[in-house]
Amino acid sequence: RLHHSVEDAKGNIRVIVRMRPVVPNDASQPQHIKHLEDGALEVDEARNAVFLSTPTTGMKRFEFYSVYGPAQDSVAQQGVLFEEQVRPLLKSVLDGTNVAVMAYGPTGSGKTFTILGKTESGQLSGLLPQSVEFLLDTLMAPSTPQTPLSSNSETRLQVVESCTMTMVEVYMDQVYDILGQLHGALESAAKVDVRQGSDTVSLNGVTEVPVSRWDDAVRYLQEGLRLRKTHRTLKNLESSRSHLIVSLHLVVQATGGATYRSKLVFVDLAGSERVSKSLSQGERLKEAQHINKSLSALGDVVHALSTTPRPAYIPYRNSRLTQLLFDAIGGNAKTLLITCICPHLPQQHNMSETQSTLQFASRAK
Ligand code: ADP
Ligand code: MG
Repeated sequence: RLHHSVEDAKGNIRVIVRMRPVVPNDASQPQHIKHLEDGALEVDEARNAVFLSTPTTGMKRFEFYSVYGPAQDSVAQQGVLFEEQVRPLLKSVLDGTNVAVMAYGPTGSGKTFTILGKTESGQLSGLLPQSVEFLLDTLMAPSTPQTPLSSNSETRLQVVESCTMTMVEVYMDQVYDILGQLHGALESAAKVDVRQGSDTVSLNGVTEVPVSRWDDAVRYLQEGLRLRKTHRTLKNLESSRSHLIVSLHLVVQATGGATYRSKLVFVDLAGSERVSKSLSQGERLKEAQHINKSLSALGDVVHALSTTPRPAYIPYRNSRLTQLLFDAIGGNAKTLLITCICPHLPQQHNMSETQSTLQFASRAK
């Protein structure tokens, strides 16, 4: 695999593409979006490129930092993605850098699978659980040598002193505290206020749970996902109509006594599909408008950040989503944007959706 085929001058923002394999559900997907004209969609992992062609657009080539094609063994690919894309970022987190890992794409393209992951056995295989495992098991296990002494072998220079987690959902430009429901009534899926500092952003009174053991982290994650589902039902909210943001707040003890605070943020974005105005009304239409607005605000922020020279003004304030991500993208923070796309099934898949997804991703890099 050839990495860095795209000049990595922009440094802190990496855009990659993952195409999921055909899944059993594909066959039963609604067929109302039928394109009479066929097209072709191919990924070239070796060249980190995606080729898309339709009779109207002709052949287009999109290049990214890395491209992952449909894997036969998806769980194994989760591990590859972690090793190649996320593990290097975790090194930065341990050095005090904030990192955001975001999944973008239409509903059904594999965002949740990528971030959280679920195997038949109910195991979480995604990038978030793998990161938690790395941070906790590797760095806090009593067997881990905690003092970097003598040896020429690679010794750990940092120890995670504490790790806490928050889980919020952004829906219709409001922030809801998912873990808040752990202790309170269901309706107390409390709205929380965003407090903007000069170089940080925080959430007023958000529930922050300590995750010091892998089991705790997984339990909170699974409980959080269950509560999110309940909250959705209460709000009459369709799946994938909200952004899920899980943040890990770390205190890291480095050699020499320095203490770093950093934040590792995972974002499972709302589905990017364009909802037909003629078909949706009322709440559904408002939802769609909020999603469009927040995703395009995100696109604007990331585009501004990846422009050289970086403009002095970055439009974080144009949506709640970007406001919340203020200290996790931009500045010295590092961002991994994972663009999820579906494989092309003749006569079934909406090719223009994939095209606009790739265009968003291209603009971000
Ligand atoms: P999204 O969150 O973007 O709406 P999901 O993650 O829910 O999409 O994925 C849609 C379906 O496809 C799910 O059944 C999921 O398990 C499956 N899926 C997604 N990505 C993969 C993958 N890389 N390998 C195997 N199955 C996948
Ligand atoms: Mg999802």
